Amino acid sequence: TKWVYSFGAGHNEGRADMRNLLGGKGANLAEMASIGLPVPPGFTVTTEVCTYYYAHKHTYPEDLRGQVSEALARVEAAVGAKFGDTHKPLLVSVRSGARVSMPGMMDTVLNLGLNDATVDGLAAASGDARFAWDSYRRFIQMFGSVVLGVDHHRFEEIIEHVKLDKGATEDTELDATDWHRVVAGYKDMVEEVTGKPFPQDPHQQLWGAIGAVFGSWMNPRANTYRRLHDIPADWGTAVNVQAMVFGNMGNDCATGVCFTRDPSTGENVFYGEYLINAQGEDVVAGIRTPQPMAKERSKPGEKSMEEAMPGAYAELVQVRATLEKHYRDMQDIEFTVQQNKLYMLQTRNGKRTAAASLKIAVDMAREGLIDQTEAVKRVDPKALDQLLHPTLDPKAPRKSLAKGLPASPGAACGVVVFSADEAETRAAKGEAVILVRIETSPEDIHGMHAAKGILTTRGGMTSHAAVVARGMGRPCVAGAGSITVDYAQQVLSAGGQRVQAGETITLDGATGEVFRGAVAMIEPKLSGDFATLMEWADGVRKLKVRTNAETPLDAETARKFGAEGIGLCRTEHMFFDPARIGAVRQMIMAETETGRRAALSRLLPFQRQDFVDLFRIMAGLPVTIRLLDPPLHEFLPHSAEEIEEVAADLGADVAAMQRRVTELSEANPMLGHRGCRLGITFPEIYEMQARAIFEAAVAIGKETHKAPVPEIMIPLVMTKRELEILRALVDKVAQEVFAETGYHIEYLVGTMIELPRAALTADAIAESADFFSFGTNDLTQTVFGLSRDDAGKFLPYYTEKGILPKDPFVSIDVDGVGALVEIAAEKGRKVKADLKLGICGEHGGDPASIHFCGKAGLDYVSCSPYRVPIARLAAAQAAL
Ligand code: PEP
Ligand code: MG
Repeated sequence: TKWVYSFGAGHNEGRADMRNLLGGKGANLAEMASIGLPVPPGFTVTTEVCTYYYAHKHTYPEDLRGQVSEALARVEAAVGAKFGDTHKPLLVSVRSGARVSMPGMMDTVLNLGLNDATVDGLAAASGDARFAWDSYRRFIQMFGSVVLGVDHHRFEEIIEHVKLDKGATEDTELDATDWHRVVAGYKDMVEEVTGKPFPQDPHQQLWGAIGAVFGSWMNPRANTYRRLHDIPADWGTAVNVQAMVFGNMGNDCATGVCFTRDPSTGENVFYGEYLINAQGEDVVAGIRTPQPMAKERSKPGEKSMEEAMPGAYAELVQVRATLEKHYRDMQDIEFTVQQNKLYMLQTRNGKRTAAASLKIAVDMAREGLIDQTEAVKRVDPKALDQLLHPTLDPKAPRKSLAKGLPASPGAACGVVVFSADEAETRAAKGEAVILVRIETSPEDIHGMHAAKGILTTRGGMTSHAAVVARGMGRPCVAGAGSITVDYAQQVLSAGGQRVQAGETITLDGATGEVFRGAVAMIEPKLSGDFATLMEWADGVRKLKVRTNAETPLDAETARKFGAEGIGLCRTEHMFFDPARIGAVRQMIMAETETGRRAALSRLLPFQRQDFVDLFRIMAGLPVTIRLLDPPLHEFLPHSAEEIEEVAADLGADVAAMQRRVTELSEANPMLGHRGCRLGITFPEIYEMQARAIFEAAVAIGKETHKAPVPEIMIPLVMTKRELEILRALVDKVAQEVFAETGYHIEYLVGTMIELPRAALTADAIAESADFFSFGTNDLTQTVFGLSRDDAGKFLPYYTEKGILPKDPFVSIDVDGVGALVEIAAEKGRKVKADLKLGICGEHGGDPASIHFCGKAGLDYVSCSPYRVPIARLAAAQAAL
């Protein structure tokens, strides 16, 4: 088996499409080298070795050593330096690289190959003893903590000690002799802690580092990251060993991280940060403040790379164009300049905000880099969520607290917490929290995930907090340097103001502003790019997208987002209004038909007006109205007070009311007297609703000369007979209203398929139905035998432990619930080829479920208004 793949110096064994084997970093290093970009030579040990390592008690395949030696020899030849050579030593970096990027999750070792002898060689070769000794101490420090597990503050103590001794405050004041002393201190300390001298043999160092990278694949923060991002543990990581280049050899050296376009806005500008005379991780670590790339982006006091290193910058601008053209996507790149010569260390598709993702996809299609269908594929439907969420109301009063970098857009408001654990605990209790940290690290991921927003006081736009927050879609303000955080006192202060843990603050991730207290927010305006992408998506999708709405506001919002009708109007939700709840309760509590009819006649005008409003907003689009399906427990009065109130309202005596409540109470209301069972036992209820619908439709028809075609939907049907009876009732009311008004309209009568029996007998049911709408909420409940109301208590345990892959109420269970949907669709269409099929459970807005609906041949999905754009895009992707 081939375990090792070389890259650089004209010998590229890998390619970009080999990321499963080589990891993202290794595959792209080979790809960059093969398109002629300057990549220091090296090799990649494959992810299969990682898999082998874990399958074979942390050992390696037998032939690995030989392959590594061979690849290493090739690097030596290319660089003209030898591993362990005392005159011209080869130094390498050892880095992890999984299939998908896991920023900062795993460990890296730089400057490997240094020891007591080669350090002199490096000093001689570079002509800079200070640099050589500084490199050596960096190596011992990284190797010591990553490979040998020495606590990193043990190293810092030693530096502090040497500085104190010398009366220095900054690292930059230390010279070669001082670093020499630091190295001596480090070695003693490492020996004391580990019981062994610091390894001098570069080969031993190399194998130690390779083992540490493989070992880091299973460390707790990598495990957390994988869990949050659905990355399987068996993918493994590759290890990249690459000749070192130095960005810290002097002022003609630099290192940087940049994006080929702005990852926040998507704007087509070269965007990034660099540091002169710095090594690798210094830029992302947020210790020194990095400088901008482009002159047009530099602020007073900053020095752009364009100005400081015009030659290398010009070369980088070329590389930027080459990479975008080659990868046809925005790239996130890392580079180093060593003595004015540019080297590329990494490229990958850059993480971006939802707004940037949209803009870049649309722009690239317009630039001809990709086509429109590709643009549609590029945007994650779930990410649209971020664009549709509120921003701060510009007119709202606010009390400014501080300003940092606009690291991830969106506004967020919540109570201040200072630790990730606290964020998680309080968020679990339903509180909105803002996680405030000096800086974040991979250990904070769970808290960042739990928080509504993230605020840091240190670090730039590519700091951990910024990158991770953007990826998660959390608003983030980073590097708010005027804020000081006191973890011990649980307080932050800025400009003389103090904010304790538990107090509310508001962040604006788009401007970087931080405010004290809560600031009012407003609905988002959708940009032209959004409309363009949606148009392209609409051009390819086959599924129609409707909305679940019953209020005029929701219906209007959904229209604005492009809903093509209403797929579910839950009429019982129209009765929660305080002006009506009395009449509803009167209806429920009535013991006789006469009593019920009295209540219903109070409700009729409200219902009629509701439907008039909806028909008007939906102007000519289909509107599916579901007849009453009230789980009774949602409407019954509960407390003694409520019962008294209802009694007073109805003029009945309290004891009688109490008795009626007891009579009506059900042990299992979700499987009780609800849905069409109510219409069967109390036909006058559905009669009233049908009348309200037809009268409203006739009124609109007369007014606009374009009558709506209402789709009347009967819920929770289990037998054909139920539907026959209720359909006859609806038809009877229709004829009455047409006779009374002298106006005739068209209408459909259909049913929800939300019980297994209905799905299995769908052929019979279809004979009486004009359409089916899958109520996958109840169907999931009844297929799994999981109570919708109670499952929340234990279901998270199932998904956490992987007993269920996903919450089946969120994303459709294809194997079980999905199978029933397919059976019902097939049986229904066998009887009626043109039977209209839709879905209106919560799954109608979930991209994975929408994919399934497309495959199952449904005509439409229906979802809540804010998810309509998500559904439009997901439906388009399902069709591609
Ligand atoms: C369903 O059961 O999927 C459905 C849409 O109806 P409801 O959620 O109102 O029960
Ligand atoms: Mg239902």
